[in-house]
Amino acid sequence: MPERNKKTILIYDTLRREKREFKPVHPNEVRMYTCGPTVYNYIHIGNARPLIIFDVIRRYFEYLGYKVTYVQNITDIDDKIISQAIEESTTTEEIAKRYTKYFQEDCEKLGVKPPTHAPKATGYVEKMIDLIKTLVDKGYAYEVEGNVFFEVSEYHEYGRLSGKDLKQMEIGERVDDVIRGLKKAPGDFTLWKPAKPGEPSWESPWGRGRPGWHTECVVMSTTLLGKEFDIHTGGIDLIFPHHENEIAQARCGSDAPFAKYWMHNEFVNLKDKKMAKSEGNVILVRNLVKEYRKEAIRLLFLQTHYRKQISFSYEALEGCQSLIEKFKYYYSGIKKQIKLIQKNKFKKSEHKKPWWYNRKIREIDKAMNKDFNTAIVVSIFFYILYKTYFGPEEFKFYGKKLLDDLDSFLGILPRDEKKTMPFEKIVKNKINRKIKLRDEYRKNKDWEKADKIRDELLQMDIILEDTKNGTKWRIKL
Ligand code: AMP
Ligand code: ZN
Repeated sequence: MPERNKKTILIYDTLRREKREFKPVHPNEVRMYTCGPTVYNYIHIGNARPLIIFDVIRRYFEYLGYKVTYVQNITDIDDKIISQAIEESTTTEEIAKRYTKYFQEDCEKLGVKPPTHAPKATGYVEKMIDLIKTLVDKGYAYEVEGNVFFEVSEYHEYGRLSGKDLKQMEIGERVDDVIRGLKKAPGDFTLWKPAKPGEPSWESPWGRGRPGWHTECVVMSTTLLGKEFDIHTGGIDLIFPHHENEIAQARCGSDAPFAKYWMHNEFVNLKDKKMAKSEGNVILVRNLVKEYRKEAIRLLFLQTHYRKQISFSYEALEGCQSLIEKFKYYYSGIKKQIKLIQKNKFKKSEHKKPWWYNRKIREIDKAMNKDFNTAIVVSIFFYILYKTYFGPEEFKFYGKKLLDDLDSFLGILPRDEKKTMPFEKIVKNKINRKIKLRDEYRKNKDWEKADKIRDELLQMDIILEDTKNGTKWRIKL
């Protein structure tokens, strides 16, 4: 275990509302759980934020020498999957299988390392039934007409994570009026619901049915990580009701402490509104990665601390894309410089650590260990890159080593040696990106900037035509 691991790491814990020193449950190990997708459609760039930020945090722990077990579940049974299956005239299994595959492909395209375990909810129904049974037996849950509800007033700490009190919980769950009529209190949440004919269902003490969403994460996290594990994560919209309900079930189901630290990322907004499927203002990861490097998307998120909101814009992403091209240029330049130096005169022993080497490591540690301030680390990364490229020969080797170390958790250095895309495609993508940027300016009535883009393209003999179906372009002959 490297010495650096021993340094104090402070994590902002949503539950205690303060930064707390990280002390792993098991020495030299980190066990993390992130709520995964409900697999019924494509992920958007808002969903990409927790994927990327917790990927970086997981990899940072690995870089420090911890053994990390990272679990991200797949919700493969849910009302939304059932309706999608009806819409596409297929089975829920088929929908879940297809969108799980798309999700995993998108993660890979974002440079997100696969989790250690990706359990599917349908594989844990027996265990969920066991937990629900225990909760009923202990008096925390009750059955009504084939439904089982958790009675929130029975758990005295309910509302601690979200800071809500029971009176505010009228609108806790998206439930129809029928179910509302069945519950003792509006805030009580569903643990088990009866299945309608034709829907996937399991045998249970309360008749055929299926578990509610909040139960699966408790069962999968504690089965795979133990009854007490280190970090539970997700976006802030999961704090209530999902994570609040997870805590209630875990704490009432057993006396185990459950997650030790709760981490939540802030939203990605589009024009001051949270990007969300329900709002219809989403930009799909699938489309974005066709035109932008994954490193640019990662940089876009890492430039801002994870607990601050981000306003997504193509302009900002375009800026990141240009920076990434520069990184690639400088980094491959450094590699060539080192090759040349090694060929000509330098032996390994003649490489020296730059005077700024230890200082930069200290700065990186300080920033990351204070609740993972990637924004500062990214700026240190620029510094090292430029210093190494332009600096003296004897510093190149260790400068590159530091960049490689840093990138083992940031993932913002393009590694491909040659451009894999054909030149024509690169040009087309560039034009399309410019058009998107122009659209954004036009929507914001920033005509000056929009016209500037039109002129820039015209200089390249690209003519834009605004049609009802969006902007088209052609080459001036
Ligand atoms: P969902 O598919 O809505 O359950 O979200 C999956 C993950 O993405 C959860 O951790 C959410 O908190 C997170 N998430 C959803 N929308 C956004 C957004 N606009 N910004 C940041 N995180 C989000
Ligand atoms: Zn969850």
